[in-house]
Amino acid sequence: MDPIRFGLLTVSDSCYKNEDKDESGPEIEQYIKDENSNIGKILKGQIYHKSIIPDEEFMIKVTSFMYIFEFMDFLISWSNSRKLDVILTIGGTGFSRRDVTPEATKQVIQKEASGIVAAMLMSNLKITPMAMLSRAVCGIRDKTLIINLPGSPKAAKECLNAIALVIPHAVDLIRDNKDKIKDTHGTMQNNILSEISSSEGQGKISSYLGNIVERNRESPYPMISVEKALQLICNCIEPLNFNNKLEEDLERCHGKILDGDLYSKYDLPPFRASIKDGYAVLADDGKGKRKVLSRIKAGGTATAIKLVHGTCVRVNTGAPIPDDATAVVQVEDTKLIKGTSDNMEEEEIEIMTKVQLGQDIRPIGCDIKKEELILKSGTKLGAIELGLAAACGYKKLFVTDLPKIGVLSTGDELQCPGTALMPGHIYDSNKITLLSILKENGFDPLDMGIALDDENIMIDKIKHALQQVDVLITSGSVSMGDRDMLKPILEYYFNATIHFGRVNMKPGKPTTFATCFFQNKKKYLLCLPGNPVSATVTMNLFALPLLKQLCKDTSIPIIVLAKLMSSYNLDPRPEYARAILKWSGIDTLPLAYSTGNQISSKLLSCKNANALLMLPGRKGGKTVLKQGEIVQAMLLEFTQ
Ligand code: AMP
Ligand code: MG
Repeated sequence: MDPIRFGLLTVSDSCYKNEDKDESGPEIEQYIKDENSNIGKILKGQIYHKSIIPDEEFMIKVTSFMYIFEFMDFLISWSNSRKLDVILTIGGTGFSRRDVTPEATKQVIQKEASGIVAAMLMSNLKITPMAMLSRAVCGIRDKTLIINLPGSPKAAKECLNAIALVIPHAVDLIRDNKDKIKDTHGTMQNNILSEISSSEGQGKISSYLGNIVERNRESPYPMISVEKALQLICNCIEPLNFNNKLEEDLERCHGKILDGDLYSKYDLPPFRASIKDGYAVLADDGKGKRKVLSRIKAGGTATAIKLVHGTCVRVNTGAPIPDDATAVVQVEDTKLIKGTSDNMEEEEIEIMTKVQLGQDIRPIGCDIKKEELILKSGTKLGAIELGLAAACGYKKLFVTDLPKIGVLSTGDELQCPGTALMPGHIYDSNKITLLSILKENGFDPLDMGIALDDENIMIDKIKHALQQVDVLITSGSVSMGDRDMLKPILEYYFNATIHFGRVNMKPGKPTTFATCFFQNKKKYLLCLPGNPVSATVTMNLFALPLLKQLCKDTSIPIIVLAKLMSSYNLDPRPEYARAILKWSGIDTLPLAYSTGNQISSKLLSCKNANALLMLPGRKGGKTVLKQGEIVQAMLLEFTQ
């Protein structure tokens, strides 16, 4: 079908004076143009004209009926000369004196389309009784459908949601496009939003999902590759606005991500230091006897001591050596010649070995030079990194603020461990697994509980979670079951954009990634499948990279080559098989042992696994990978 030609007419004097104030117009425009959203897919529309007209100014004229005429002129000229299929007016449908959009519309339409108005009203009444106060009108003028939408962005989108599915069909009918009318029916039946918007009863999503006979038998979401999915995640992340710089004591930095490059404040060592317990000497004195002038301990100073030929100074490991010293001889290479009379100190020793110039001396800055780059921004701070920071004189470091993360399980069958198991129930194992993986990776996630497979409960749980977190990780409710309502709930109630809802992988096909704005903040929603293995694998594959990117953590998973120790039947989808890699010391490559039955419900297949074998999808007649063949394997828990 040719794209539907839309015109958007915002009716508001404040928006007329300042275009930036117009939220509804751009949101509706975005909504129609977004090819990834359901609305975008249904409407396949293009915005041909948009305009803002002031109601304040027209109000004056209303008294003399001029306003209505001018408004009518607008609508008439758009429908006549601009050949628009649909004009959406936004605003001016309420009860205030200035709300006269319906009056103007009534004057220009030739046929009323009251069913569309009723659909919008019914849909909105389920959300708020205030919908009763809408006086929207809808009708046809020549070949143009004119629809009044309310002014608030949320209400306008809800109305458009409620009627989107019929618009292509209505346009075909108006265009008298007989061939397409049949296709449009098809589109209607397949689309999720039609069911949502026309459903009655307990809740829109539930009744859509409850309609078992007419439900989709294939996911409406395109199947994309793992690489594409990661790319989409990457494109959505906005770390700069998201994170604040935080200065933390070193003790609190472990596992966090350094924000900003770190340069050493000092030379290390800051003085010429002895590597051994022994004697600081003049190297060119060679072997032979030495008078012991004094002793310098680690932490002492060497400034006042002057070495001359035939003398030495006893030094400890890490002690500063006198400025003139040109070598240190370890105590093992010396012998005592004479002690002091009280036998408490050495007076004379003999050096038994050849002395090399500079031996066993660490010159100033030989480990780290002052102002040398020690750690790059984005480095994860582990034991060694913190040691380096301390050595270079840092007491506090700037680290990225960690995102607030929530983990929510979904499913009527789930029970918290510790309660007696009811018939048909299982214990929720995903939540503790996912929370623990997050903790192992340095995050501090919140437990958001279990949401039953009930539309209202799920909405409440998600709302409650989004009030507290930046990233919500859920498990379950994204497959093709009639209780898998998460995706439609996110789209419908949270105006979320589903960036992907199906990934070509095993396990983890229904993994879903969405973003939405909640209380004016961007929220990330990663919805993992419910099967425990799928949830674990997709957590590693998608959630950790997402979170790392949010924290500006630059580490990436390590992928190695491994030799299969058993054969694998290839699945049509690329598979991530859990395996134990062992380094034999004989083979150059690690050996990959399977963890047993790879069915996605069997969490035991993840136990002891230290890698995911990246088995390719079946193609080109190759259906089996034999023992001894080489595959790529992603190491779990290790990054570089
Ligand atoms: P779903 O993705 O909701 O269709 O669930 C798929 C399978 O995973 C079902 O067998 C669920 O019982 C199981 N499942 C879902 N969530 C969990 C969980 N939190 N812990 C353990 N198993 C789960
Ligand atoms: Mg479920």
